[in-house]
Amino acid sequence: MSRRYDVAIVGGGVVGCAIARRLSQFALDIVLIEAESDVGMGTSKANTAIFHTGFDADPGSLEAKLLRRSYPLLRSYCDATGIACEINGALMVAWTEEQAERLPDISANARANGVIDVRLLSPDDVYELEPHLGPGALGGFLVREEGIICPFSPVIAYAREAKRNGATFMFNAPVSAAESTPDGHALKAGASRVEANWVINAAGLHSDDIDAHLGMPRFRVTPRKGQLIVFDKFARSLVSHTILPIPTARTKGVLVSPTTFGNVLLGPTAEDVEDKTDTETSADGIASLIEKGRRIVPALVNEEMTACYAGLRAATEHKDYQVHVDAARRYVCAGGIRSTGLSASMGIAEHVLEGMQDGGLSTRPKADVATITMPPLGATQRRPFEDDERIHGNPDYGRVVCHCEKVTRGELVDAFTTELPPTHLDGLRRRTRCLLGRCQGFYCRAEIQQLLQEHAS
Ligand SMILES: Cc1cc2nc3c(=O)[nH]c(=O)nc-3n(C[C@H](O)[C@H](O)[C@H](O)COP(=O)(O)OP(=O)(O)OC[C@H]3O[C@@H](n4cnc5c(N)ncnc54)[C@H](O)[C@@H]3O)c2cc1C
Repeated sequence: MSRRYDVAIVGGGVVGCAIARRLSQFALDIVLIEAESDVGMGTSKANTAIFHTGFDADPGSLEAKLLRRSYPLLRSYCDATGIACEINGALMVAWTEEQAERLPDISANARANGVIDVRLLSPDDVYELEPHLGPGALGGFLVREEGIICPFSPVIAYAREAKRNGATFMFNAPVSAAESTPDGHALKAGASRVEANWVINAAGLHSDDIDAHLGMPRFRVTPRKGQLIVFDKFARSLVSHTILPIPTARTKGVLVSPTTFGNVLLGPTAEDVEDKTDTETSADGIASLIEKGRRIVPALVNEEMTACYAGLRAATEHKDYQVHVDAARRYVCAGGIRSTGLSASMGIAEHVLEGMQDGGLSTRPKADVATITMPPLGATQRRPFEDDERIHGNPDYGRVVCHCEKVTRGELVDAFTTELPPTHLDGLRRRTRCLLGRCQGFYCRAEIQQLLQEHAS
């Protein structure tokens, strides 16, 4: 089977889906090809969910530019679609004299990146903002615009919107070979052959492999594992801001942050690994986080843990994103997007679109561009179980199935009526928050599995 498209996007992570959404607003025939059975199954499903402003990026880098470009777009998109997002501010804390001396430089860096609502803080200011911090903070730095965002919803929202606007999604179709044709490219995607005028490589950890398939081996991805601990909602009152360490050249370091679901995160670690599938947590990794967490917010480590998880950053030998538009070959690489791709996703999509337009892609806007709304998954949003009007209209919104996360039967059933319904428990989990709570599905998994069997096509 072979079919021809204007644009083929390889990879359905947050970057590929953001690009698909943007391109679907034009009269273009688009296909998104994903190796897994759903969108958001790679790095995009295991991150820290910080909505970065780009205040600490290297000034002049593409990462700094695209984070700044993305920030207002993603904030408006969250407002328009209902994706959970809170602008809680980030507090960077200095624990040594050497770190305290770097604070003015970090402030200058933020301003150079256009993040101007920043303030240097004395130790007293720091403890006033975060009374549960451990002893010994020597000063800090507040970035009011930093936020937290639902880790799962953006990628699903982008994909649903792209699908609603006509994009085709191919799942379980790993791209394993590519060749140039007189009018573009031919890709071997699972058992299918896909031809396209333009190819966009958004394959995350495998973006180097796709670059090599297309004859452009420019970088190598060495996965950098980040392990994280999710603490129970009882810990939520211990922190208000995202508490950051002073970053090093290699990593942003271990942070403590509230989440939009009302938990508290501690992590991530930064460990270079060889295996692009190695997302196991380890006793050593968790122990190292506990040790660091004890210093940052001592009371946190006595709270109960809900879960531990790990994700792999697509780190390369270059610090900056590997985003290149090759107009002559009609090929775009949007890879090597290491630590900030969730936040930068909409800026990356704009940048890619412009590069393709400059490279000759004809983009006639569609007369009608459909939009979508997302379910309210955030702890500060009005959830269906607390919405009398919704329950009156459909009693299933009053029937809680997942009691830890208060997910109702109505929301679970709704997930199957969307443009990209879940086909497995993990997909349902990321769309509704079910199974994510302190019991991790011990009490509700059977009923949810039953719903999946009844509704998944
Ligand atoms: C521990 C950790 C913490 C992070 N914290 C944050 C944060 O707080 N804020 C933030 O903004 N960012 C954060 N990030 C970074 C962010 O998660 C990534 O930058 C982003 O998810 C990368 O998205 P992507 O689409 O490039 O890659 P992915 O999500 O990995 O998507 C790539 C997709 O391509 C598919 N694919 C690969 N090979 C093929 C092939 N041959 N054929 C077809 N499909 C293929 C994969 O299956 C995958 O679905 C964090 C990352 C990690 C690991």
